[in-house]
Amino acid sequence: MTTTDSGKNWLTPLLDTWRTRRAWILEQQIAIARVAAPTGNESERAAILQQDWFACGHLVTRDCVGNVIARVDPTGTPTRPDRRPLVCLAHLDTVFDDREPLAVRQEGARTYCPGIGDNGRGLAAMSVLARVVLQPEVRTRLQRPIELVLTVGEEGEGNLRGARQWFDDAAARDAMPVAAVAIDGPGDRTIVHHAVGSRRWRIVFTGAGGHSWANASTPNPVHAAGACIAAIARLAEASRPSGVVAVTRMNGGEHLTGVPTHAWIDIDLRSLEPARLQTMSDEVTRIVRRAALDASQHHPALALRYSITTLGDRPAGMIDDRHPLVLAAWSATRAVGREPQSASASTDANVPLARGIPAIAIGAGGSGSAAHTASEWYDDTDSNVGLERAIRLIVALGTTERLFS
Ligand SMILES: [Zn+2]
Repeated sequence: MTTTDSGKNWLTPLLDTWRTRRAWILEQQIAIARVAAPTGNESERAAILQQDWFACGHLVTRDCVGNVIARVDPTGTPTRPDRRPLVCLAHLDTVFDDREPLAVRQEGARTYCPGIGDNGRGLAAMSVLARVVLQPEVRTRLQRPIELVLTVGEEGEGNLRGARQWFDDAAARDAMPVAAVAIDGPGDRTIVHHAVGSRRWRIVFTGAGGHSWANASTPNPVHAAGACIAAIARLAEASRPSGVVAVTRMNGGEHLTGVPTHAWIDIDLRSLEPARLQTMSDEVTRIVRRAALDASQHHPALALRYSITTLGDRPAGMIDDRHPLVLAAWSATRAVGREPQSASASTDANVPLARGIPAIAIGAGGSGSAAHTASEWYDDTDSNVGLERAIRLIVALGTTERLFS
């Protein structure tokens, strides 16, 4: 990377200002976390943040799936204008289904609330970044546009819907970004540059059913599902560590004394390598077909049927730890006095990584635990460190003259 401003001192007063506004940032975070935003139902939270960005001077748009988008163009004269934007994403949704306002409890430095860290912290940081990028000292130095995007549908069966839509639209406009940074949860040292890919399937076996004595030779869907589970367990053993597969839910049958008419299992398959994900998927498909055939061999006229339905599909991808984007995050982390750590995860950054766009995910300061549970907590101690890291990184990526050249 070539840096436009060799001295970074111009950023210091701005960082100092935000350091003194920790209480306000935490207030924003709690207020955001209190507004329920289950995947697929993010609109109330989205409207509040849209209003916040509008009030601080942005033109804010919503796309067809409900992502909230603000774009800042350079107001100075970029040395080598880059029309490709830098995109910064944070997800709006939580894994909690409840539409009721979420309860907040304070215990010492800890704030307990489902979603307070994931992604209340990331969204509060986006409120700060929305203000930072409008500051004249930043905007006049920008070498490329910055787009801030609050995404819907990142969690669970949302399947990264918001991020996919934003990148589909960018591809359609021929305006793919130069790089993407997802701001997700607390933290001030990890840099996610390996995107864990996953496929979640429901496998259903169906048959004629019947009486367990009178129709004993009728192919049994529960037997097929059982054989399938045993084979997947062997595949799981053989696949680690480059891939993992687990049967995570199962159900089937109707009566104690009847050959069942149906059985289903859900599987969760994950890997960092797209090719591995594909070979494991192919193997599971073979296992399912074989299980149905074996269970039907004595009564082919009543052969079991099976179906495989995709419940989730997150693409894998990665950039290595010498990639300039990772190095930029590395140096922002060192600049705030933390030792950087490489990590792998499944975030909005999966989408750009799978499409060949350099992308990482970082935390937004503070610490926390128990994400995706009702007892999630967030600790604001030293939260300015991680927030400052995020600001330094986004500003560096926005104002650097030649990124990745
Ligand atoms: Zn998250």
